[in-house]
Amino acid sequence: MDPLPQGVGWMEVVTGCMFSGKTSELIRRVQRARYARQSVVVFKPRIDDRYTEDSVGSHSGQTLRSIQIDHAGQIPGLVADAQVVAVDEAHFLGMELVAIVENLANEGRRVIVAGLDMDYRGVPFEPIPQLLAVSEYITKNLAICMVCGNPADRSQRLVDRSGRFLVGAAESYEARCRKHWSAEVATDLQTSLPLGRNLAEDP
Ligand SMILES: [Zn+2]
Repeated sequence: MDPLPQGVGWMEVVTGCMFSGKTSELIRRVQRARYARQSVVVFKPRIDDRYTEDSVGSHSGQTLRSIQIDHAGQIPGLVADAQVVAVDEAHFLGMELVAIVENLANEGRRVIVAGLDMDYRGVPFEPIPQLLAVSEYITKNLAICMVCGNPADRSQRLVDRSGRFLVGAAESYEARCRKHWSAEVATDLQTSLPLGRNLAEDP
């Protein structure tokens, strides 16, 4: 069971590669907080438009109502008296997010952040590394390597497009282990397991 702080501020991060179940875990924690009759607000960056406009969605199909923001500076004005503040896809929100969520925790709120810890080149993806350092509780999920079936912590880009921000899930990435991952774009899909890439989301 998750540790549930009572009466103190607190920060937690759920991280890992693509298809590691980060959003599913965020949704699970938010639902548990709601069962405990705590007030919760959920944010996500507007750049992520894979799912319906005003909800957080996992690859496995769960959704949660959320507020779309263009930058992290909007969060303090929108939290009102929420006891729990959740932020999905936090790697899109930049270093500005760190001080903002620390302030929310210092005010006595529980903050839950989910986001990628590395980009497709294997480079730590700010602000997640910084949030990991200052959070009380961190969870790094693993996915399944689509080449060998081992635990995977890397996002392999499959389409040859430049830029760190490439929104898109199954068609653009697959999870790979350290041995089968490359910082180069992999366009040969013959190595993939016959199971298909969409199965990668953890339950
Ligand atoms: Zn592998």
